[in-house]
Amino acid sequence: MSGAVQSIRGIHDILPADAALWFTLEAAATEVFAAYGYQQIRLPILERTELFKRAVGEVTDIVEKEMYSFEDRGGDSIALRPEGTAGCVRAGIEHGLLHNQIQRLWYHGPMFRYERPQKGRYRQFHQFGVETFGVAGPAVEIELIAMSARLWRKLGISGLSLQLNSLGTLEERQAYRQTLVDYFSDHRDRLDDDSLRRLDSNPLRILDSKNPALADLIGQAPELLEHLGSESADHFAEVRAGLETLGIAYQLNSRLVRGLDYYTRTVFEWRTDQLGAQDAVCSGGRFDGLVDWLGGRPTPAVGFAMGVERLLALMQILDCPLRRLEPAVYVVTQGDKAARLAVSLCEELRDRVPRLRLMKDVGGGSFKSQFKRADKSGAHLALVLGDAEADSGQVQIKPLRSDAAQQTIAVKELAAWLETHVPPTH
Ligand code: ATP
Ligand code: MG
Repeated sequence: MSGAVQSIRGIHDILPADAALWFTLEAAATEVFAAYGYQQIRLPILERTELFKRAVGEVTDIVEKEMYSFEDRGGDSIALRPEGTAGCVRAGIEHGLLHNQIQRLWYHGPMFRYERPQKGRYRQFHQFGVETFGVAGPAVEIELIAMSARLWRKLGISGLSLQLNSLGTLEERQAYRQTLVDYFSDHRDRLDDDSLRRLDSNPLRILDSKNPALADLIGQAPELLEHLGSESADHFAEVRAGLETLGIAYQLNSRLVRGLDYYTRTVFEWRTDQLGAQDAVCSGGRFDGLVDWLGGRPTPAVGFAMGVERLLALMQILDCPLRRLEPAVYVVTQGDKAARLAVSLCEELRDRVPRLRLMKDVGGGSFKSQFKRADKSGAHLALVLGDAEADSGQVQIKPLRSDAAQQTIAVKELAAWLETHVPPTH
């Protein structure tokens, strides 16, 4: 016999113990996005490899080193999506959702990158992504950042810092690129192998290097913000003014270049100091060139993606309140008559009490073993129904997590009692 098959490195199961944590974030995000009129789009996990080569850029880490790409049985080159924007734009063009209209979309699901697995960095991870199409002005950057800030508040996540930069237009970036190549070429001997490679292919990415040995050199590099044209500079000033009006604090960060080629003008990132090196929890920006680039009519766009695992880790560190999914009430029975009666009583209670989470014991056995399971279920209350109670039309209510007294109540009053004493959040 060979051993049990294991999961793949960097690809994890999400176990029931974490269900409430995931649900809390998913429910809050869904509600906040709806509060701003965003609509959900459900996108495929597999796309043509070519899509990401064109959208993300051939000489990015994602496409060069991290993408899961393979030939399918028909010989087509297919990739597991490493990010969601490319597929969202592809779908938007394909279904005519982008042209001549304002479109606010969100999606979520797993993304795949062949990275070195570590805390906060996995090969399958999850994102919530939001994209807005059709708005050239800065209002939409402000709205998206305000929406993300609202989500942090709703979740109880505090202490994030908002990093903000502008990358200018593609043309401005092209001009700056030469300035940067000149600067780094003068200091060629101080660059590491990765940066030397990027010097020819994608010099802006050197600014994003995580190598501490390069920090000084990068710190003294010429800044893109000083090479912006007047329209880009005005646009950026309006984004900043809008955030200031809303009281959203930010830090200007001229080193924030983002790992994807498609960004133009505003880029931003929410960072935490609680998770070590994996400090980005939400990253985004404007990508006015991408729709055109992928074969659609030119359409301005702004979006962001949140890293779910990192946000959840943060919520655990900050002890954020979680929505409850475990049963609030657990029903134990003794005797055949009571057991039979309990089945229909439980159904009736679920019919009558809104959002009641009620678990009926199905394991049988002694009262003691049923109470053990009641305790393990996480429920706050046990309803106890024995044959004597069944005969008298009564139920005992026994608190499981407090010293409050046990009480007896008529079955016909039970639904009303539960509705007032067991709120859905309980
Ligand atoms: P990093 O610099 O940490 O590699 P990134 O710039 O590659 O991040 P994006 O492509 O902007 O990340 O993705 C958006 C968000 O998705 C990130 O801010 C992060 O929270 C999350 N993320 C990215 N890669 C991973 C991963 N391998 N595992 C877990 N979360 C990730
Ligand atoms: Mg990365």
